[in-house]
Amino acid sequence: MTAHPPIRLNDLDAQRRRIGDAVDAAVKRVMDHGQFIMGPEVAALETALEAFCDARHVVSCSNGTDALVLALRAKSVGPGDAVIVPSFTFAASAEAVALVSASPVFADIDPGTFNLDPDSVEDAIRTARAAGLRPVAIIAVDLFGQPADYRTLTQIAEDQGLWLLADAAQSLGARYHNRPVGSLAPLTTASFFPAKPLGCYGDGGAVLTDDEETATLLRSLRVHGKGDHKYDNVRIGQNARLDTLQAAVLLEKLKIFPEEIEARNRVADRYRLGLSDLVETPSVVEGCQSVWAQYTIRVPDGRRDSLAAHLAAREISTAIYYPKPLHRQKAYENYPMASGGLPASEKAAGEVLSLPMHPYLDAESQDRVVEALRDALATS
Ligand SMILES: *Cc1c(COP(=O)(O)O)cnc(C)c1O
Repeated sequence: MTAHPPIRLNDLDAQRRRIGDAVDAAVKRVMDHGQFIMGPEVAALETALEAFCDARHVVSCSNGTDALVLALRAKSVGPGDAVIVPSFTFAASAEAVALVSASPVFADIDPGTFNLDPDSVEDAIRTARAAGLRPVAIIAVDLFGQPADYRTLTQIAEDQGLWLLADAAQSLGARYHNRPVGSLAPLTTASFFPAKPLGCYGDGGAVLTDDEETATLLRSLRVHGKGDHKYDNVRIGQNARLDTLQAAVLLEKLKIFPEEIEARNRVADRYRLGLSDLVETPSVVEGCQSVWAQYTIRVPDGRRDSLAAHLAAREISTAIYYPKPLHRQKAYENYPMASGGLPASEKAAGEVLSLPMHPYLDAESQDRVVEALRDALATS
C-alpha cells in the first residue's frame, strides 16, 4: 500500500483549517442575534455579491435549482414554452424547466469547451417551433467553471426573440472578456452547494439581474408571493430563502474567494504542463477565465474506467461528470432535441474524467496524480 495520504477530489477540510475560526465566529454571531430567517447577513451577502459580480441585484435563495425555477417563474415561463438546454449538464438545468411545466429542448455541446454549441442551439430552436412549441429562452450552462460563448448566444437570442439565462452554478467568479459572471446575461443563477467553487455548509443559491422589476418579482416569489407586507400575498410564490447561517458562512468564504480562484488557476496550469502530452486536457477559450469547478480530461477508446480504477487503487479520487447525457435519462428521454442529434454530448459522457481540483492541492500531490496517469496509460 501507499505511504501517501489519499488525494481527494475536493478538500473542504483544508479550507476549514484556514478560515475555520472566522467562520465559527460568524456562526456564533448569528446564534447570538437569533435572526435565523432573513437576518442582516443575508442582505450583507447580497450587497457583497452585487459588487463582486458587477450585478445590480442579487436575490439570494435556497439553492441553485430553486434559483433556476425562480428565474423562469419571474419571466412567466410556462406550458407551451420551450427552453433550450444543453444535454451534457447536471439534471437541475433541465429539471427547473420541467418544474414550471415548460419543455426543455436539448442542444449539443462544443467538444472543446463542453459548453453549448451555438449551431445546435439554432437547430433546437427550429425543432421546438416545428413541434408546435414557443421557444422563449436559452439556458447557457458554464460547465466545469468556464463561461459559455455569450457573444454568439446573445446574438442568437436577440435574432430569435429569446432571452438568455446563465446557469452559473459552477462558474461564479469566472470572467469573460474582462466581465464577471453575473453580468453576462439578463439573468444569472448561482449555487452555493458545498462542492461548488463558492460553497456554504448546506444548500444555498442566488439569482442575479440588472433589472429592477425582475428583482422585485424574485424577492416576492422567494417569500410566498408577498406584496408590501409579509401577510399580503399577491401571487403564488414559494419558500425559497437563504438561511442567515449560510449567508454568514458565505461572507467569510467570499473574503478569500479571489485568492482561491487564483490558486485553482495555478493548479490547472500545473496539470496542463504535466498532462497535455498524455491526454486531452481542458481548453480555455481566449478571453475567458475559468474557476475550475472541475478539471476534466478526456480518455478515449474505452480506457476511461480502467484509468479511474488505476487511480483509485492509488487512493486518488476521480469522478465522472456526467456519465449519461440528459436526453438519455429516463426522466427526460421524451423531450425534444436538436434534429442533428447530440453526438458530442454522448461522446463526452463516455470519455470524461474529473481529477482532484481545489485551491489547496499541493504540487507534490499533483505530481502523484500526473505520475499515476502516466503509469496507467503506459501499462493499459
Ligand atoms: C449544482 C448545479 C445546479 C443546482 O444547484 P443546487 O444548489 O444543487 O440546487 C444547477 N446547475 C448546475 C450546472 C449545477 O452544477
